[in-house]
Formats: sequence, structure tokens, C-alpha cells
Amino acid sequence: MPDRLDPNPHSPYATAAPDVRHLLPGFCGKPSPGQLAPTGCNRLAVVPAEGLRTVGDDGDTFPAGICDTCIAAWYASHRGKELPDGRVATDCTECGSATLHGEWCALCRQEKHEAWWPLAPLVAAGCTTWEVTERSISRVDHDIDQLGVYAKGYWEWDDTGKKTIVVGLRVGAGEDRVVARFGDWLIRHPDGTFTVHAAPAAAAGE
Ligand SMILES: [Zn+2]
Ligand SMILES: [Zn+2]
Repeated sequence: MPDRLDPNPHSPYATAAPDVRHLLPGFCGKPSPGQLAPTGCNRLAVVPAEGLRTVGDDGDTFPAGICDTCIAAWYASHRGKELPDGRVATDCTECGSATLHGEWCALCRQEKHEAWWPLAPLVAAGCTTWEVTERSISRVDHDIDQLGVYAKGYWEWDDTGKKTIVVGLRVGAGEDRVVARFGDWLIRHPDGTFTVHAAPAAAAGE
């Protein structure tokens, strides 16, 4: 069997095809492993721990498993050209700037990826993760309900002390319940238990 490169590591915020390895041109310095970086095919992919050796130095052959579009872009760039890009710009649902990356722009994806990346080993081990935010809470609530687990909004007094507001999601009942505040990650482990990974800022403040 011929050697075939593994695809880039998974991230829910990557936009590049997940089944192949992408070339990472590194326009702004060398990206570190684990970062979400721009690919030759104009998408985003996670930088793998083991880098590719510089291609083209010892002939123009690429190892098997590399993205065809990345290779085409590489040859095009050597002729001073760029590949046509038929994508239509949309507004990032987070910051509103125009983007070719769909739901979120590249910067917001990189930010979200960075917050999610510490959870990657859990996902690899079979856990499911949800970021609980004001925007995602109803979708997360729905997902949890589908699993047959009780979940509902978690309420607290607001700063005025006069009314209560939703500040997160409560999952489970009784002693086993957990509370994921907005910005936290809710994690479902393969045994069906839930834990919470606090938002980076909240964790740093503890
Ligand atoms: Zn590619
Ligand atoms: Zn954005």
C-alpha cells in the first residue's frame, strides 16, 4: 500500500475538505501546530504536528493524499496566477464582516477554534462538545433533549437584582446536574455523563 498522508487534524471551524491534507502557504510566518491556518485552496485547516517537507526542492512530486486544489494553486502561484474562486461573500454571523468562509469569517473561526482546541482530545476519545452561547442555546437544548436528557435555561438575578435572566444551560437533574454558562463548553462523555469546560476567560479569572 502506498504511503498516504493523513488529513489535517479535525476542527469544527475548519472549512477545507476534511479527507485530504492541505498545503499551508504560511503568508504570515510559520503557523504553529494546532492553529487554524489558510490553505492553498483558500480554505482553513488545522496545522498538523508533523509538517510537510518543502515540496518542489527535489522535483515536483507531491506525496499522495494532498488536496488537488492546493496542488493546482501551488503550480498556479509559480506562474504568478491565482485559481478562480466562485464563492459568494456572506456576512459573518459573529462580527458581521464579509467573508467567503460561510457562517463565520476566518478571524472568528480562528478565535473559536483556539477556544475549542483544548477539547480536541476529548472529541477524539468519543465525546461530543457544544459551545453554549446566547445564540446556540436553543440548538444545544434541542440536541440534549434528543438524547433523552433533561435540559433547560439556567436563570440568575441580573445586576439590578430586580429580574432574572438566562445565563446558561442546566443539564440533567438532581445531584448529577451541570450548568454551562454562556461561553462555556458542555461535554458529553461516551458513558453519557456531562461535564463543563469553562470559557478561557472565566477559567483564567478563577
Ligand atoms: Zn486544499
Ligand atoms: Zn467574523
